Amino acid sequence: MDASKYWKWLWSMQIPRKIVLFRWLLMHYALPVRAWLRQLDSKSCGFGCGCMVESIKHVLWSCPKSRQIWQRVLKLLILIHANCVVTWGAVRWGILEGQLLLYEKEDIVEAFHIVPPHIQMVQPFISDSLQFRDDIIWKTISSLVMWVIWKARCASIFDNVTQDVAVIIAEFWLLLVHTLRGQYESFTGNADAIFKKQMHFKRIWTSMLIFREDGDHIIWMYTVPVILGNNVY
Ligand SMILES: [Zn+2]
Repeated sequence: MDASKYWKWLWSMQIPRKIVLFRWLLMHYALPVRAWLRQLDSKSCGFGCGCMVESIKHVLWSCPKSRQIWQRVLKLLILIHANCVVTWGAVRWGILEGQLLLYEKEDIVEAFHIVPPHIQMVQPFISDSLQFRDDIIWKTISSLVMWVIWKARCASIFDNVTQDVAVIIAEFWLLLVHTLRGQYESFTGNADAIFKKQMHFKRIWTSMLIFREDGDHIIWMYTVPVILGNNVY
């Protein structure tokens, strides 16, 4: 994806503005991770995993805590047969035929900030073969997951609150359901146009366990699906 397309996509996303802004900061290497905050005494991971350098990659992807969250979310994507391969810097995540694979070529990218900014370094890269549906699902979900991980990391550093993975997952799920419900209920136009938009929405999201249909009604599923729950790992 070239840069201008990426920005267009980012600003057109129908997710909460604060999360769009968060992703924009991420793309600009502007998230204040500790590896970049030289004035702080401690540069270690805000989640307290023992890692001595907190880079963006570490916080959002490689930290054992973040990884547990991604593993659960990727399980959910496997469930819906989303077919995607995601690379992020040295980290490569893949979902292939129902198998969860994690390749990591380098353990740690120290001083990540000296790498010249490069879109594919900070944006999870999605293979060209990814279907449109998977593309929308992945972009939405990855934004929300990174947002809740970042929030949990900030709560840990600034409020001294350690959030359990299950709590972070529950927050992600609520955010996802609220976001999608907001999208669904804000469709505009005449009855026909709204109907078409609803159909399109359902084609994308039906298999994600976010809602079920009961006649003409949509019942939003606020309870975290079992596949994301504690008993998975
Ligand atoms: Zn960590």
